[in-house]
Amino acid sequence: MNQLQIVVEEIYKPHFDVEKDEFVDKSPYLPYERRCVRYECRCRAGSCFTGNAQFKQHIKSKTHKDFILFYKKYYKEADEALTKYTTLLAERELLARKNETLVEENRALLETIKEHEDEFQECM
Ligand SMILES: [Zn+2]
Repeated sequence: MNQLQIVVEEIYKPHFDVEKDEFVDKSPYLPYERRCVRYECRCRAGSCFTGNAQFKQHIKSKTHKDFILFYKKYYKEADEALTKYTTLLAERELLARKNETLVEENRALLETIKEHEDEFQECM
């Protein structure tokens, strides 16, 4: 019987240390996490790891160390832009829903006005 294995892949993003003002490696996994997400690292094409042990091994490589050292220079802006884009997308969705509600309220109010138009005319 075939066993399907779902591989979830995410891009590894180092942690920003505010005090040091630099990016540092921080494991994206919880200790003893069993169902680990597979992370792709941008330090080298096709480079990836799954689980804490592989992560610890991965961050020892020279390529990865250089990547972290220059992370701010090459990736910070792109990551921030993506975060901002996601936030704006969520805000846009909320505003679209709010707008839908307002359009519906407006339609109902216009209907009420139309229903009472004769009464309004008599008042004038
Ligand atoms: Zn790496």
